[in-house]
Amino acid sequence: MFSNCLKKDKVIASNMASITFGILTVSDTCASGDKDDTSGPELERLVTTEQSHDGRLIKGQVICKTVVPDDEFQIMATLTRWSDVFKVNVILTTGGTGFALRDITPEATEKVLEKKAPGLSTAMLMASLKATPMGMLSRSVCGIRKKTLIINLPGSTKAVKECYEAIAGVISHAVDLILEEKSKIIKTHEQIQGAHQHHRCSHQHSAVSAARITSVADRLRESPYTMISVDAALEIINKSLQILDAEILEVWDAYGRVITDDIYSYCDLPPFRASIKDGYAVFTSDGKGRRHVLGGTEAGQTPGSLHLVPGTCVRVNTGAPIPEEATAVVQVEDTMLIESSTDGMEEKEIEILIEPKDGLDIRPIGSDIEKGTLILKAQTKIGAAEMGILSACGCTKVRVTKLPTVGVLSTGNELQQAGEPPKPGHVYDSNKITLMMMLRENGYSPRDFGIAIDEENAMISALKDAFQEVDVLLTSGSVSMGDKDMLKPILEHVFKATIHFGRVNMKPGKPTTYATCEYNKTKKYILCLPGNPVSATVTAQLFALPLLKRLSGDFSKPVVVIAKLLSSYKLDPRPEYARAILEWSNDDPIPRAYSTGNQISSKLLSCKNSNALLMLPGWTKEKSELNKGDLIKARLIGFNQNSV
Ligand code: AMP
Ligand code: MG
Repeated sequence: MFSNCLKKDKVIASNMASITFGILTVSDTCASGDKDDTSGPELERLVTTEQSHDGRLIKGQVICKTVVPDDEFQIMATLTRWSDVFKVNVILTTGGTGFALRDITPEATEKVLEKKAPGLSTAMLMASLKATPMGMLSRSVCGIRKKTLIINLPGSTKAVKECYEAIAGVISHAVDLILEEKSKIIKTHEQIQGAHQHHRCSHQHSAVSAARITSVADRLRESPYTMISVDAALEIINKSLQILDAEILEVWDAYGRVITDDIYSYCDLPPFRASIKDGYAVFTSDGKGRRHVLGGTEAGQTPGSLHLVPGTCVRVNTGAPIPEEATAVVQVEDTMLIESSTDGMEEKEIEILIEPKDGLDIRPIGSDIEKGTLILKAQTKIGAAEMGILSACGCTKVRVTKLPTVGVLSTGNELQQAGEPPKPGHVYDSNKITLMMMLRENGYSPRDFGIAIDEENAMISALKDAFQEVDVLLTSGSVSMGDKDMLKPILEHVFKATIHFGRVNMKPGKPTTYATCEYNKTKKYILCLPGNPVSATVTAQLFALPLLKRLSGDFSKPVVVIAKLLSSYKLDPRPEYARAILEWSNDDPIPRAYSTGNQISSKLLSCKNSNALLMLPGWTKEKSELNKGDLIKARLIGFNQNSV
């Protein structure tokens, strides 16, 4: 599609102005190849024919042309890209303006316009009415987006000509007005802002982003994104997040979720006076000495008709309710059998060998948890113990934050699925499985969005698929400086995403990019991880997992410990996250950090068995290396190590 976009407009002669045009044919049948597009070429012929207006010769130059189906998203994406990225003067659409169910061009156009220009539609309507009353059925929309005039023309080749000729005479003036007005706005803005760094930077970066996917020669040789620290990146992520809504779940289904409200116990625990020991419920006032055994109560039973009177006792098991009037329990170890029944099966009389004290070995009602006690505070993450507490207190349902839905997308022409016979120049996609499993280990159910080749339409459609289904998308690849690294410009220009950061001062993982956008009225979070397998793995640990946790209301921090280096490290100018295996020994409370070997970012073996990322500081003149025995901060990674 971009190969249709020529480079800069040329002024053909001093008195001849050149207007750049984009011609967008909207038609299901032309897009599928079932029919030839004749209206698009007719428009091209018309706009490139030299015309004279106001004493100037005007010749249009078609710098973009394409055919898309009657699909609202594709129409909007093309219009915004041609307007925002290629800064085309005029976009003419043909097709999709009728009454058929699929005709959606005016609606799609209206959504991208910033100002409407209904006069142009009226002029075209008047011209078509002269030819046929059917003109009344046209729904053309015209208007302005940024510096671009967008005009809907009908689909039929004949009607296209009639309508275009009705407005051709005012196009150059309209373009002049748009450009003048825009330059005025920019001037005022610059006057107000002065030479504001950010303004210039974002301006440059849009142009550069566009260039990067059009021409390899024009690509930028240095990233336009400001390099920020890992902490700053995390802060930006945190600030951008909106914690997801809550839902009510059965306690059984709530493992790993974060509760949204304080939870109070529905009942007393224990709900009755319970024995702590296997023994005999007695009156303390009877002191030491012999007792007649009235019978026994086991756990799960009630004392029923067994009532103590002085000189008697009731045999009780651990957890069994004791008779209401009993004042102590004496454990069986502190008693002696005096007499049993004639068959030897029952105790008749025992002797209490100690002086029992009031309350001995009795759990009073509510002594573990009193009814109405706060048992779990809002924002507590539900683990095994918490599920036990909830169940013990009679809670069957809890209100918890939803878990984000998350998807994984790999990018790159060179990638192939594991298991396929190897193709020349290809490598197997390892990021997908690593990221998916890392997500599963942390309690998410990731969706696989496949591999998108390095082609604009493939990327757009993969992103669109993902945004339709998930809140968070992890991509890998296509964010470095290669001419095929097109994710950032696509997100920015096609999906109108905000790129919160595009470069992080870390090794590995420098090109890590974070963006958010609205899709189907829902906020989407996109973490674009670098393609190198180690970089993708490390940045997923550092950014993706915290992002997902926060979205589900989990604010727990990663565990960072101090470890002792077992080898020396030459420091890199960027702070480095070196994979290591920490081992604890009985004789030293400080774990020892074994390096996992060569730390090059392509070598996934350096992640094997690692349970920590050593947080090596950036190189300074004063400190250029770390030595064996030095102490270093290490962030624990891996299942259940990631949070406290
Ligand atoms: P990129 O970030 O797209 O420039 O890719 C950087 C390097 O990572 C290249 O060597 C790619 O072949 C490799 N790479 C990218 N994606 C993957 C993946 N999903 N699995 C394995 N290697 C990858
Ligand atoms: Mg790539």
